[in-house]
Amino acid sequence: MSITVRFAPSPTGRLHAGNIRTALLNWMFAQKTDGRFLLRLDDTDRERSTEEFAQGIQEDLAWLGLDWADMARQSDRFDRYAAAVQRLKKIGRLYPAYETPEELELRRKRQLARGKPPIYDRAALNLTVEERARLEAEGHKPHWRFKLESRDVVWEDLVRGRQHVDAASLSDPVLVREDGTYLYTLPSVVDDIDLGITHVVRGEDHVANTAPQIQLFEALGATPPAFGHHNLLVRADGQALSKRERTLSIESLREEGLEALAVAIYAATIGTSDPVAPHAGMDELVSAFDFEKLSRAPARFDPDELRLLNAKLLHALPYDAVADRLRAMDIKGGREFWEAVRENLNVLADAKLWWRVVTGPLAPAIADSALCEKAAALLPPEPWDEATWAAWSSAVKDATGAKGKALFQPLRLALTGEDHGPELKALLPLIGRTRAAARLAGETA
Ligand code: GLU
Repeated sequence: MSITVRFAPSPTGRLHAGNIRTALLNWMFAQKTDGRFLLRLDDTDRERSTEEFAQGIQEDLAWLGLDWADMARQSDRFDRYAAAVQRLKKIGRLYPAYETPEELELRRKRQLARGKPPIYDRAALNLTVEERARLEAEGHKPHWRFKLESRDVVWEDLVRGRQHVDAASLSDPVLVREDGTYLYTLPSVVDDIDLGITHVVRGEDHVANTAPQIQLFEALGATPPAFGHHNLLVRADGQALSKRERTLSIESLREEGLEALAVAIYAATIGTSDPVAPHAGMDELVSAFDFEKLSRAPARFDPDELRLLNAKLLHALPYDAVADRLRAMDIKGGREFWEAVRENLNVLADAKLWWRVVTGPLAPAIADSALCEKAAALLPPEPWDEATWAAWSSAVKDATGAKGKALFQPLRLALTGEDHGPELKALLPLIGRTRAAARLAGETA
């Protein structure tokens, strides 16, 4: 059987790391099994869904390298949902109910007070044709409930193992509201059937939807797909991630300059038994992927841990992986430059800073002018290489008697204007003799 999965966000906000985790798990599963990964925009809520968010979702997925084989929008498929509603009505599995939210709340309270589970009592099923006609004549519009079969629903969850739900303990879910709009439950099932979804992989917050949805698949004459419910990401303070929170959106992580690969690795590996560690590429992430590695506890999303991973990833990144992006930043230092500076970067854009240090103009910081003067006089002729620094600094040491920090710090400050940074043996040949001599003399160069 070939595997088809989908990522089904609502375009009512930008994606955050938690959404991306769902997308990644689906995408990795499809990659690993040679299956298909689809994008479905759950935009039945016409008021809250926007085209801008729909575009944003696609941008974020593309940036992360999560390519989809096909895309569907629920707003294009209302006729399919209407057909499913007709079918359910015809087989007696969808019934009208007229209770107001206040009435339902009151009933719930009464049930709880009597120590009973607060399940919808199906009073609407007992309405006679006359009673219904009277309610409608009074202007009441029905919402429509799916009549569950009172039986055990069982599925082998890809993450949580065997799950049992006694459908008799559930309220018949509302599928269609009074105003004719759909709740998420039905459109999702109709789409999963039409798109041939074989595995529904989604967050744990949807576990409670699964038993009714399984019955819905069956009522519509389809075999239910397999289900997997992964643990959720929470903020460091334990709160759920929210779409309204811009700071943890994928967009803001991208704007901060983080690597797409770091964001993907982080979102895919926190809350698993794998360590959060750099990978050479998405392929490695895919081969390490296994539902069994997901932990059951919520995973904490810590932006600082992500930043640290991003830095580690850059430090190990080969030149070829960044050459184009360096060129786009007008950095022409090539492999030598990259290998000299990469371990000093938190984000790739930091490379610009060190490129300025190499090419100038840069105002040096002269901490010891006597030492710098002597050092300038001792600069050997070019060509320079990685051995130049050791030979030159030891000549300066012999000439001045300075050693350790007293020797290296004034030289670093004069040559780079900074008190820390890449190894000078790598930087010095890139800076070159002309600029080095000028900076040691206190000139901007
Ligand atoms: N639109 C739903 C959500 O974003 C999809 C849930 C599902 O995957 O079934 O939560």
